[in-house]
Amino acid sequence: MGKRDRQGPRPAYVTLRDLPGTRLMFWVVGECPYCAERHLHPAGNLRTADPGERLGEHTAPCDPTLTYELQLPPRPKKKSGKQARRKERREGKAPALDELSWDDE
Ligand SMILES: [Zn+2]
Repeated sequence: MGKRDRQGPRPAYVTLRDLPGTRLMFWVVGECPYCAERHLHPAGNLRTADPGERLGEHTAPCDPTLTYELQLPPRPKKKSGKQARRKERREGKAPALDELSWDDE
């Protein structure tokens, strides 16, 4: 029953990017839950940092009174994904680059 007055941090889905030519990584919020803009959060140095440690609650850059929780986006469901991929292969399409980059260290 009505506990809606107190808002917890909203989830913000991120992808990990590195800056070409550097060893810096960033978590990129593709669409901020508050302002729908893109935000970047430094995730540290490729060699020394564990970017996973930077996930979790952060202040939203667009509003210092709000926080959001950096999370990895839910993966697509395996069933349909497998079929779609098989179909793509049959049609001669390359797999999505986004998907390939996930298993990078
Ligand atoms: Zn924002």
